[in-house]
Amino acid sequence: AFELRGKSVYVAGHRGMVGSALVRRLEREDVRLVTVGRREVDLRNQAAVFDWFARLRPQVVFLAAAKVGGIVANDTLRAEFIYDNIAIAANVIQAAHQNRAEKLMFLGSSCIYPKLAPQPLREDSVLTGPLEPTNEPYAIAKIAGIKMVEAYRSQYGCDFISVMPTNLYGPGDNYHPEMSHVVAALIRRFHEAKVSGAKNVVVWGTGTPRREFLYVDDMADACVHLMKTYSSAELVNIGTGEDVTIAEFARVVADIVGYSGEISFDTSRPDGTPRKLLDVSRLDKLGWRATTSLHDGLTRAYAAYLSHT
Ligand code: GDP
Repeated sequence: AFELRGKSVYVAGHRGMVGSALVRRLEREDVRLVTVGRREVDLRNQAAVFDWFARLRPQVVFLAAAKVGGIVANDTLRAEFIYDNIAIAANVIQAAHQNRAEKLMFLGSSCIYPKLAPQPLREDSVLTGPLEPTNEPYAIAKIAGIKMVEAYRSQYGCDFISVMPTNLYGPGDNYHPEMSHVVAALIRRFHEAKVSGAKNVVVWGTGTPRREFLYVDDMADACVHLMKTYSSAELVNIGTGEDVTIAEFARVVADIVGYSGEISFDTSRPDGTPRKLLDVSRLDKLGWRATTSLHDGLTRAYAAYLSHT
């Protein structure tokens, strides 16, 4: 097992939904947390990252910084999604190696798997077929990060690992009406409809795509567990192993928010990939399982939304 106790632990991306969940989780460990704001160190800037790493020399790195967004953000900001995410991964992974970080965890995404790979998605499906076009730039950047981790492990012997979280949600999510992911988008849309007394809420696409949703604090717990116990080139999926259709999901969000009007589907909006369910048997064998139900997680996510609006 890898000892976290007493170590300096850098969470890259600590202001994001994922990074802030990691910080919450790591506050319960006996570690020295290190973070740095974007204005001080822009992770896309190689010189800034190399300087900062050489000064701070964190012993452990959680690479949770990324440019992220929902299906529209991914599909329209295609250049930013590929450039920012390749630059962040390249700079932080190389800096961690140069400064002899003892361990690094790279956070990927379930969208790295081919659009039509067998479901549930196994870790060895990566690079076996074409990607979902709407998020291909993001996926290619994440695959580049995974391949860096593999290469640094094989050439330099770095103890770097990669994990692939499923669709995440929770406190600190981005609630932008166009650019957000579906969970935040629907929490906000149903809430606003309830408040204004609207009789109909529009959900994008056909409602038939299936998605798996993991509460972000569960994901952070899985990451800390794997940081302590896992050391191998193989990817590890992080999910619940269960999925729902977008139509079913919208119904659950409406119930939690207390919206009782109609729900309609705008089929001019993209569906994205038909199904994205992770095979979590490797994670299960490694001794971790999600504990927050979709209902409980959404209840907490809605409370977090209310306390920030
Ligand atoms: P994806 O998993 O990469 O496709 O990311 P999203 O969270 O953006 O979308 C998940 C699914 O939810 C897709 O099938 C979307 O079409 C559907 N969806 C339904 N309504 C919305 C919405 O208001 N915003 C977003 N982002 N997706 C929505």
